[in-house]
Amino acid sequence: MRIVLIYEVGEVGRPRSRGHLRCRVLLAIPLVVGLSFGLSPGTLGADRNLIQGVWVERESFLMGTRLRIRVRAPDRPSGIHTIDNAFTAVALYEAMLSSWTRDSEISRLNRTEVNAAVTLSDGLGDLLAQAFHWSEETEGAFQPMVGALLDVWGVRDSGWIPTKEALDGALSSIGQGAIDLDFAAATATRRDEAAWIDAGAFGKGAALKAAVHEILKAGVKDALLDFGGQIMTLGSPVGEQSGWLVSVAHPQRRFEPVGALRVTNASVATSGASERHMVIKGRRLSHVIDPRTGQLVPPWGSVTVVSEDPLAADAIATALFVLGPEAGMEWVRKQPDIGVLFLIEGSEGQLEKRWNLQMAAWLQETGNESFQPEHRNGDGGI
Ligand code: ADP
Ligand code: MG
Repeated sequence: MRIVLIYEVGEVGRPRSRGHLRCRVLLAIPLVVGLSFGLSPGTLGADRNLIQGVWVERESFLMGTRLRIRVRAPDRPSGIHTIDNAFTAVALYEAMLSSWTRDSEISRLNRTEVNAAVTLSDGLGDLLAQAFHWSEETEGAFQPMVGALLDVWGVRDSGWIPTKEALDGALSSIGQGAIDLDFAAATATRRDEAAWIDAGAFGKGAALKAAVHEILKAGVKDALLDFGGQIMTLGSPVGEQSGWLVSVAHPQRRFEPVGALRVTNASVATSGASERHMVIKGRRLSHVIDPRTGQLVPPWGSVTVVSEDPLAADAIATALFVLGPEAGMEWVRKQPDIGVLFLIEGSEGQLEKRWNLQMAAWLQETGNESFQPEHRNGDGGI
């Protein structure tokens, strides 16, 4: 029995409502657990360990999207308690990282007067250090200081074409020098009036990392988290020893799965233009900006990244979407722990798939699409 659960990857949105918590204990009786997950009773008998505990699932709207958490806990109250702690951790990150509200720590930093140093809290200092580590690693393809460029393209609005002066100005307001970050001294100093830091490409990953930390602290071994399409997995669903099945959507049609991964103790992040995109003067453009040129990345397809670290998965997916499949695959060659799958749309609507060896370990066969073992269309030699 293979298919247990398929989660959509790339399912993003910005529902405005928030705070409504829904709670339900999924499956309290072991036999029902097995049957509900599509297992035969025979499978249940095979390993008693698999049916201990109960599955508890809750969902909440946080960071402008839906966070769904499912854990296998010893009992219902402890499962609910664990999930509540995870939600609280994410809510704290939202209060720290959201640039959509004025009172988050990052928004206050983004508004400080030029040349006035502000002290970073331990939490924000640590997160920015991680984010800017990936910015350096990707030679600025992932650039959290991209705010000024988002402004001139109206990315948070309906989108428009900037004038050359506006674009040149914004290009000088990103990256090193625009905001001095001194992690040793825990300070940030804006040097440029237009510069601001946006956590849009790593905030969800960072929050997932905090959530999973809470879940592990509670001793939970099996869990699934879906945060607006970014997935984090621990262990396996009942009856499956090899991980959770996560579907990879078509770059444009997010309800059409074109592949599946079997993932455990790792996160899956996708960057592309399937949902969040703009149409400017008839051209479909993504929300992601190439910080080297200041241009919006054209929707060439999508890239799915698997990493143990959800923050890294989120940041790297954005970076590889900027770099594109060729340079992206080159970059990934130097990363021993990152699985990557590029879906490249051809001019006739055909889809080319390329992946590295690390990703091959996660890829599943789905219908006619055999991903294994010959790395069809793939960069199998890596
Ligand atoms: P999603 O939010 O759909 O999961 P991403 O993780 O790729 O997608 O993040 C996209 C967001 O990140 C954009 O909406 C924008 O706020 C910000 N952003 C755009 N370009 C970059 C970039 N080159 N580096 C870092 N952040 C970016
Ligand atoms: Mg990202």
